[in-house]
Amino acid sequence: MNAAVLSSPREISTRPLQIEQVPRPNAKAGYLLLQVRACGVCRTDLHIVEGELAPRRPKLIPGHQIVATVVEGGSSELRDGMRVGVSWVGGTDGTCWYCKRGMENLCDSPIFTGYDVDGGYAEYALAREDFIFPLPDALDDLHAAPLLCAGIIGFRSLRVAGVEPGDRVGLFGFGASAHLAIDVLRAWKCTVYVSTRGASHRDLAASLGADWVGSEDEEPPVELDRAITFAPSGKVVISALASLRRGGVVAINAIHLDRVPEFDYDRLLWGERQIRSVTNMTRSDAQDFLKIAAEIGMKPKVTGFRLDQANEALLAIKSDAIDGAAVLIP
Ligand SMILES: [Zn+2]
Ligand SMILES: [Zn+2]
Repeated sequence: MNAAVLSSPREISTRPLQIEQVPRPNAKAGYLLLQVRACGVCRTDLHIVEGELAPRRPKLIPGHQIVATVVEGGSSELRDGMRVGVSWVGGTDGTCWYCKRGMENLCDSPIFTGYDVDGGYAEYALAREDFIFPLPDALDDLHAAPLLCAGIIGFRSLRVAGVEPGDRVGLFGFGASAHLAIDVLRAWKCTVYVSTRGASHRDLAASLGADWVGSEDEEPPVELDRAITFAPSGKVVISALASLRRGGVVAINAIHLDRVPEFDYDRLLWGERQIRSVTNMTRSDAQDFLKIAAEIGMKPKVTGFRLDQANEALLAIKSDAIDGAAVLIP
């Protein structure tokens, strides 16, 4: 099969992914063989490909927003021929302190798709049966792919921030994840304030119904109940914190952040404001989000790339060259 393979992580402009012919994976007990229909490109893939997340395998096929057809190993619940999705968490141990308490997103030994095991930048992929989600028909391949990490983790961010219907919510950064979260916020009748760099990101936010849009260091005109930061920048966390009312929460949706600048506790955190990180996802986040996405007819803005353009797709994410999400079509 064709696959985009990472052997040595380095700066994306040097094209670290090589398009190669590699053996198709074999189905095994507990796993399903999937034929990839589309695979979303996530900022985490960029961190992996550039080596900000330390390599865990000598050779890796990245990709963890996989829309696929089950071709081998199907069961009564996930039959051969069924259209399914696979996300970032490709497995947990089910036995650790966290898993036993319903916090499988914090599992001691998680398996990450496209990081610990090969992912979806390929024509076929193998995935653990109990971490595969049937996809609603309402979502086509191209538009379902970005929901599988950007969407699910954006949704988890809303939960971690404690968003309630009608809240005033700030989104700091407006990439793939935020542009999906805003649909959920609107369905929940929240007032949405977007601070982001890039005129086209600001235009997209306005067209998706943001109530206020400003540049990345502009503070919203009101005190926020909740804020979610999507940019991989510690400075943005401070802007978000500075926008909160007392008792408000900032949720940081970023797997990697440059350093958070020193800040004034008395003015910014005192008053029971909270900063929380968002880490991975649970299977119920995935199921609940996919259900909502189908109900509200979520239609992400996507740009399609061929598999052999995987480097270009990642470069586009890094340079904010596209609005919404990038998706590879093998
Ligand atoms: Zn566990
Ligand atoms: Zn991701």
